[in-house]
Amino acid sequence: MLLQVRNILRIKSLVLIGLLSVALLAAVLASPSVIPSQAQQPATGTPTTASPTAPSAQAGVASPFGAQTQQAGLSSVVLDPAHGGTDPGARGTGGIRESEIVLDFAIQVRRALELQGFQVVQTRQGNENPSFDDRSATANAQRGAVFVTLHISSTGLPGTARVYVNSDLPPVADSNGLIPWDRAQAPFLGLSKTFGDLVQGFLSQRFKGSPEAAQTASVRQLRTTAAPAIAVEISSVTVENRADLDRMAPGVADAIARGVAAFKPSYVVANTPGALR
Ligand SMILES: [Zn+2]
Repeated sequence: MLLQVRNILRIKSLVLIGLLSVALLAAVLASPSVIPSQAQQPATGTPTTASPTAPSAQAGVASPFGAQTQQAGLSSVVLDPAHGGTDPGARGTGGIRESEIVLDFAIQVRRALELQGFQVVQTRQGNENPSFDDRSATANAQRGAVFVTLHISSTGLPGTARVYVNSDLPPVADSNGLIPWDRAQAPFLGLSKTFGDLVQGFLSQRFKGSPEAAQTASVRQLRTTAAPAIAVEISSVTVENRADLDRMAPGVADAIARGVAAFKPSYVVANTPGALR
């Protein structure tokens, strides 16, 4: 499930990227034996793949401002198998759990992306349920990354696939380096749409009945992600036989990998606040 309103957005205070980065660096240099991401994570249900440079949600925003000036192009993909742990996501009458299927899809998507030469980071590898912010922080700690969250819907024509990008967010009014955490996606909306349209195009070739272009929706996971970011939703958990979904995985993986490769030349992240307008 994707569009279900599950969490009331926690409004985060403004994030001063530069100061936090400097403070973080100082902290790491001062005590090299402490890995912030481990120190701050609860004992269970945490992602094991998060970069140790992503100590918290607040410090994870990869700003399109000064911190990104050494942009080296698109090199990695953060894959987010949605739900997990105590949250099974959508459930079919046959016992199909969204949280399990997306993990299996992620394995194939990862393989397809690696064959294209991309590095892949997963927000979870097993049956855990990192928070929305933890997952975004994993993405926001990467440079030169795009973000793909994978869902299986409980609705829609079985055998089709849809790509969503976040709907319009209020513009980032502050041009002095402050980006509200809950609007981290705002500067990337245009790139996300370009990326989403490409992936959707490949999906529609493979899965008849799928839309031709990406759609917009309010997707909580995307809102806090400071990178070109899309949600891919497969229909649906209502199939009687899980094999009907499993059969779609290679096509979904191929479409995402082709989409990322096709998007790569478009991946130019703004270096100056002025470019955000
Ligand atoms: Zn879902």
